[in-house]
Amino acid sequence: MNGKILLVVAFVALQQVCMGMNFAEPKLIPAPREFKFAADRCAVLDSNTVLSIACPDARGGEWAARHFREWFGAKPRVKAAAGGAALLDGDEAYTLVVDSTGVKIEARSLAGVRYALYTLRQCAMAARGTVATRAYVLPHVEVRDAPSVKWRGMHFCWMPELSAAFVEREIRMAAYLKFNYVVLESWGVFRSERHPWFGWPERPMTKDVVRHLKTVADDLGVTLVPQLNALGHASSARGRYQKHAVLDLHPERQPIFEPMGGWNWCLSNEEGMAILHDIMVEMHEAFGSPPYFHIGCDEAYPPSCPECREGDWRDRIVRHIVGLHDLFAARGTRLLMWHDMFVSPKDKRFGPGDGGLYGGHGELGCEKYLLKLPRDIVVCDWYYGHHVDGWRYTTHEYFHKLGFEVLACPWKDTSGILGQGREAARQGWLGFLGTSWHRLTGTNYSSLLAASAFAAWGTEPTVDLAEPEPAWFGTYWRQMGWDMGIRNYRDCGLSETQINRGTCTNLD
Ligand SMILES: [Zn+2]
Repeated sequence: MNGKILLVVAFVALQQVCMGMNFAEPKLIPAPREFKFAADRCAVLDSNTVLSIACPDARGGEWAARHFREWFGAKPRVKAAAGGAALLDGDEAYTLVVDSTGVKIEARSLAGVRYALYTLRQCAMAARGTVATRAYVLPHVEVRDAPSVKWRGMHFCWMPELSAAFVEREIRMAAYLKFNYVVLESWGVFRSERHPWFGWPERPMTKDVVRHLKTVADDLGVTLVPQLNALGHASSARGRYQKHAVLDLHPERQPIFEPMGGWNWCLSNEEGMAILHDIMVEMHEAFGSPPYFHIGCDEAYPPSCPECREGDWRDRIVRHIVGLHDLFAARGTRLLMWHDMFVSPKDKRFGPGDGGLYGGHGELGCEKYLLKLPRDIVVCDWYYGHHVDGWRYTTHEYFHKLGFEVLACPWKDTSGILGQGREAARQGWLGFLGTSWHRLTGTNYSSLLAASAFAAWGTEPTVDLAEPEPAWFGTYWRQMGWDMGIRNYRDCGLSETQINRGTCTNLD
């Protein structure tokens, strides 16, 4: 066959794959900053696709080709191209153009290439007209995109009920929605080798599992940040159910925790503190010594043991946090910490119920102790309520003014999520850390995760976040399952089961 005939054959093949020319607008999460598509122009992703990459990082071409093959089942023809498109500001900016000549990506970094390819994947669908997938198609698109803040994370709780597969899927999904950090909080699931009694017997977060998750996360562009609670929440379990990941099975460890419920670590117990430091370092090492470690420190109670209550116990807490700061600073690592013990709900400066949007569990006068903390601790300021137009995020502003870098941390309220995303960008806070806590099923999960993706990226939602059957989210969640090779019923979809055949339960 000569070249001319080949071209004709390729053109005929393209026509067949591209039958039908009225594409719906893709439901992209998060929405790009600038997006154009041509509903009546079809492009095909297969082994004829020319994939042009303009990126100073040579890894961009290899990464894009490898994932193109993984997701679209064909090896593209990769071409290194010269830049020249008008990229938006920032290291993570990208442009993506898909037309009849192929797929063109320009980026300043591997991160930008990744984001372009995630957008490409969200636009694409299996070609119609056959009973087995033979290629992918999408409308012609032009995308210019960049995030509004640098630090875009999700905080995920790893509870004993969750398998490593579920957590891997969360990490993959976070990357696909263009987050670049995932904080993984161990709820008694980290398997310490130095202190094997620490945590539930059937704890899935082994070092091998963490190594695997880190490999996945590194490839997809997400930094994993470990979390172990260093003050309250020492039970590694939900307060209302009164389980304790250590004391239920190891009564001999009682002196390490405060007598009342074992909720706090006993800070006056030096040997206990040495063990806590040891486990934290072990965990940090298992995660490949990332640049951040989250020490929790929310919702702590005043001490109930006679030794911790001696003198000013608040100063003991300050010394404890400074000690952790120094431990990790020596490892080149910064602490993340929840904000609430350093804000009093009675403090009039924050305008409780009157123009201030914030949460707090501290005492009046706690500022004195806050001022003793090193300013390179990143304050994770959670606010879980509604956004109210015209009201201010007073405590976020407060920590920022005191010289701390601040992450805005909403939970499940969509308006609060979007409001904090906007404010983080507008006020120059470090970024955004969404949370899901125990809301891990169905639309609870899809709406908060999708809303957080829009908020972190800094664009307004283009999907209905309250939709009871969010097919757009389900499609992307399913793709993560394909990438992992999931092959069983329970790991599919947004919940393990569709009905409850157990005893009457109403967990919240
Ligand atoms: Zn104590």
